[in-house]
Amino acid sequence: MKVPLLDVNAQNIPLEAELIETFTRVLHSGRFIMGPEVEALESEVAGFVGAKHGIGVTSGTDAILLALMALKIGPGDEVLCPTFTFFATAGCISRTGATPVFVDACPVCFNIDLDDAARKITEKTKAIMPVHLFGQSAEMDAVMELAKQADLRVIEDGAQALGSRYKGRGCGTIGEFGTYSFFPSKNLGGFGDSGMLVCNDDALAERARILRMHGSKPKYFHKLVGGNFRLDPLQAALLRVKLQHYGDYTKSRQGNAEYYTEKLSTVAGVVQANAAHCCGATGQEQVLGEAKLVLPVRCDHNEHIWNQFALRVRGEGRRDALKARLIEREIGCEVYYPLTMDQQECFADTPEASRSGNEVAHQLAQEALSIPIYPELTREMQDVVVAVIAEFLAEG
Ligand SMILES: *Cc1c(COP(=O)(O)O)cnc(C)c1O
Repeated sequence: MKVPLLDVNAQNIPLEAELIETFTRVLHSGRFIMGPEVEALESEVAGFVGAKHGIGVTSGTDAILLALMALKIGPGDEVLCPTFTFFATAGCISRTGATPVFVDACPVCFNIDLDDAARKITEKTKAIMPVHLFGQSAEMDAVMELAKQADLRVIEDGAQALGSRYKGRGCGTIGEFGTYSFFPSKNLGGFGDSGMLVCNDDALAERARILRMHGSKPKYFHKLVGGNFRLDPLQAALLRVKLQHYGDYTKSRQGNAEYYTEKLSTVAGVVQANAAHCCGATGQEQVLGEAKLVLPVRCDHNEHIWNQFALRVRGEGRRDALKARLIEREIGCEVYYPLTMDQQECFADTPEASRSGNEVAHQLAQEALSIPIYPELTREMQDVVVAVIAEFLAEG
């Protein structure tokens, strides 16, 4: 049986009639830039996560860039970000002229290591950008405490964590800004590129809105140098259809994660990461011993939305071997991410101090392998994935 990593058609085609109706509505409105569809999605997403303002933008990447611009981050500034993340987090910092400072990861939740972040603060550090990687919140109490101590702005990269929660609060609503992506592989997958910025501060939201439209207010009077970061009304309208089903998508992903955990944890050589050791909670790391494969875990105070189900495959070359086996059996899988940001060629010229350390993240880049977790995945398909992994582990 073929098991893809993601099947967008399985999610979108059942909504075909509604989507076509929506397209027709937008077509007949004749309104293709900003307007009521964009505003409606902005207030629906903001309401859903628990933020005051939603600002629809072109992509998750542009949401990050816009947040940095609104906070006046630029040349001479340093911004802390996890080194184990998607490129956009670090790339946007660099594009403002600021220096990204790469921070190590927690081996349990894969998120930013706040002890390492604290060590890397200098007098130039202006902001910290936690990423809620794979759909689980970073340790936000520690982020906010550090931000308070060092007077840092906080941008939460929630591209993979729309509707995910930390101690009951929506990921993305805790810092100055939160950013989301509606790239098709994200949990709220659109029909092309798009994203959203959320914010609770009226003045900051206003600044971001102005920067979204070339920094002009009113039109042709430019207060600031901004860009064109507008979300399309057609995209917004189509996303509104899917947002109505979002709760079901999330429940289904959570059910799939539970099922994998239940089935895989009975396989010899498999352990689950121990949430008690998350983010240095006990001051020591989980002893993994002979474990060949480590399953991801949800920490008690988090609601995890499982954008990815990332395994750690231990032992030299074993991750790549399991990946090859899964692909040979027509099971989709992907390495998120094969290189950390400090290892990227484009950042080779950033100061040595911004790239130091990061041993845990380097290890994760060797071990991480994501297997299919999308909502429409069936139990039968999951059984096939589990069987292939079990067979692989039994061999060596
Ligand atoms: C996808 C993603 C982004 C970028 O979003 P786009 O909509 O693709 O521009 C940023 N950060 C993280 C962590 C992501 O996963």
